[in-house]
Amino acid sequence: MRIDEILSRKRTLSFEVFPPKKQEGEKEKIFAVIDELKSLSPDFISVTYGAGGSNSRNVVEIADYIQNGAGINALAHITGGPSSPQDVDAVATQLKEKGIENVLCLRGDKPVDYTEDYCKYFAHATDLAAYLAPYGFTLGAACYPEGHVECETLYADLVNMKKKEESGAKFFITQLFYDNSYYYRLVNEARRLGVTAPIIPGIMPLVNPKNIRRIKEMCGSAIPLEFRNMIEIYASRPAVMEEIGYNYAVYQIIDLIAKGAPGVHLYVMNNPRTAKAICSRLERVFHELF
Ligand code: FAD
Repeated sequence: MRIDEILSRKRTLSFEVFPPKKQEGEKEKIFAVIDELKSLSPDFISVTYGAGGSNSRNVVEIADYIQNGAGINALAHITGGPSSPQDVDAVATQLKEKGIENVLCLRGDKPVDYTEDYCKYFAHATDLAAYLAPYGFTLGAACYPEGHVECETLYADLVNMKKKEESGAKFFITQLFYDNSYYYRLVNEARRLGVTAPIIPGIMPLVNPKNIRRIKEMCGSAIPLEFRNMIEIYASRPAVMEEIGYNYAVYQIIDLIAKGAPGVHLYVMNNPRTAKAICSRLERVFHELF
C-alpha cells in the first residue's frame, strides 16, 4: 500500500533496517529480524541503500522479503549519488517486479574518498525523484530538523525541502534528533514555505554512550544537557543506560504525538530488542492513537 495513503488515514509506526555487510548467513539473520519486527504490527519497514551503491541487490531482496515474505509495506531507499541512470533503472525495475510501491529518494552520504564524480548523474535527491517519476512509485525524501550538515543555513535547507516536494516527495522522514524543539521548528518553518507533505519524525533510542560522538559526527544532532548528564553519570552501567535510553525515546515520542506528529519512524539498527522495548512501553499509546 502507498505510504501517503496510509498517512492520510492514520498515524504510522515504522522501523528502519539495513542490509547485512557480509553475504554468508547474514540474509537469514535480517529476515529473522523482520519476522520479529512484524509481531509489533508496523505500518511499514524501510531498508537502507549503501552509499557506495554496492548493495542494490540486497535492497531488492530485503524489500521483497518485507513486502511479500512478511506481508508488511516496504519502503526501499535508493541513493542517487553513487548511481548511474542504468543502476537506478535496474533497481527500480526489480522493485516494480516485486510489487514494491514506496521508495525513499536520497542522494547518499558523501564517502571519505569523495570526488566530483560521486554525484555525476544525480547531484541531489530532487534529481533522482524527477528521474524516478515515470516508474510511478510513491516517493519520500529525507529532511533535517537541525539542518543538513552541508547546508549553510537552515532556511536554504528548507527551500531545498520544498524543492523535494515539488520533485515528487509525498512524505518526509527526518534525520534522528534528541531535542524535539528542532522538529517543531522544522515543521513550522516548512509549512510557512508551503511544504504540505507529512513529516515523520525519526527517533533512535540512544542506549550506548559510545554512540554519542558517532551521532554528533554523522548527523550533528545535539543531545540536550539533562539527557547528556544522565548518560555521563550512568555510562558504565549498561543496564541502567538502556533504561534511560528507552525511556528518553518514549518521552520524545509521547511529546511528538501530543503535538500532532503524523507517526514515528524508529531507527532500530537491526535490533528487534530496541523496537520491542519501545513498543512494550507504548503499547496502549500505539493502540489508541495510531
Ligand atoms: P540532498 O537532498 O541532495 O541534500 C544534500 C544537500 O544538498 C543539503 O544540504 C540540501 O539542502 C542540498 N540540496 C538538496 N536539494 C538541492 C537542490 N535541488 N539544489 C541545491 N541544493 C540542494 N544515506 C545512505 O547512504 N543510504 C540510505 O539508505 C540513507 N537513508 C536515509 C534515511 C533518512 C530518513 C535520512 C534522514 C538520511 C538517510 N541517509 C542515507 C543519509 C543521507 O543520504 C545523507 O544525509 C546525505 O548527506 C543527504 O541526502 P539527501 O537525500 O538529503 O540529499
